[in-house]
Amino acid sequence: GVLGSGDFARSLAIRLVCSGFKVVVGSRNPKRKASLFPAAAEVTFQAEAAKKADVIFVAIFREHYSTLCDLADVLAGKILVDVSNNTEVNHHKESNAEYLASLFPACTVVKGFNVISAWTLQSGARDGNKQVLICSNNQEAKRTVAEIAQVMGFTPVDMGCMSSACEIENIPLRLLPAWKIPISLALGLFLCFFTYNLIRQVIHPYIREQKNKLYKIPIEVVNTTLPCVSYVMLSLVYLPGVLAACSQLYYGTKYRRFPDWLDQWLQHRKQIGLLSFFCAALHAVYSLCLPMRRSHRYLLIETAIKQAVEKKMTIWVEEEVWRMEIYISVGIIALGLLSLLAITSLPSIANSLNWREFSFIQ
Ligand code: NAP
Repeated sequence: GVLGSGDFARSLAIRLVCSGFKVVVGSRNPKRKASLFPAAAEVTFQAEAAKKADVIFVAIFREHYSTLCDLADVLAGKILVDVSNNTEVNHHKESNAEYLASLFPACTVVKGFNVISAWTLQSGARDGNKQVLICSNNQEAKRTVAEIAQVMGFTPVDMGCMSSACEIENIPLRLLPAWKIPISLALGLFLCFFTYNLIRQVIHPYIREQKNKLYKIPIEVVNTTLPCVSYVMLSLVYLPGVLAACSQLYYGTKYRRFPDWLDQWLQHRKQIGLLSFFCAALHAVYSLCLPMRRSHRYLLIETAIKQAVEKKMTIWVEEEVWRMEIYISVGIIALGLLSLLAITSLPSIANSLNWREFSFIQ
């Protein structure tokens, strides 16, 4: 059974029907909403749907739960699946699922499916998140909902009892929490190096020689800044490991807790490393594009004209040629090695390596 006829209810009903379940949808206005659902799903009044189904997905917002109180008698003894989300982290004192359980004490409430979007439900777990986090105080009800999720093609994850509902409801509201510090660090470093390179490449020549080099800002200054950020970030990946080792040697034990700042730093190494790779990859693309620029062409032609006027037949400087060849070659190898590090940090790859293989690559 599904109570509600909105986006989520519709996607849920479609997926349940496709997975072979008999579905009954409860709406306040079944006549108007019936055409939105697959023909195999029965769309009826809320009370009728509540009577017919044993497991009922409550696909309506928390604010409207109290409007279901008239159905308390018909719902008694049934499993209610709370799929709701909030708009803010820890919005209410109690989780939505606990609130639903308090309104319907004669029902068994299971929290689940809220981390799955209506879109993922429709595309049938081929796309997007496959895990359905489930919690409830009743093991039997939890098992029933987990089986339904499995038949629908999802991977149920038991998150324990109802007190975990709040945590599950906060998951869709998270915005890359592990990336906040590394991104701020990368932006801070970028700003510092950008200012330094701007002074060196644009402001200094202007003050000394009155030369307008503003055109260098979008590509050249950014391009010299990116590898500086990349190198510093890469060193910041390995530095905390060294500090941790020093601390263990100094205290003569590995059972002493690291200070909080070092602990946080150690936990963010992967994100810092991936950002280092991101900057290095951007630097490679920027470098490849350098000869495309109009300024580059003008400077090249100007040099050629000067050579022609001075009747110079060759400008080949052996040392410079070698330096550039080696410089680019080492750059390519460095990017290749950094790509290897980035790839092995992906969970699917990292999980296929044992600890020895992982540290060998690192
Ligand atoms: P929606 O499109 O606005 O649908 C809400 C439905 O609630 C309405 O269609 C309405 O159906 C029903 N309802 C019952 N009593 C109501 C009342 N008193 N006032 C207003 N509506 C009432 O919302 P939704 O996107 O489907 O979301 C439904 C629930 O699923 C929410 O708790 C949401 O947090 C959760 N959820 C949604 C998604 C998503 O991707 N959309 C993902 C995860 C979780 P009738 O008019 O037929 O009664």
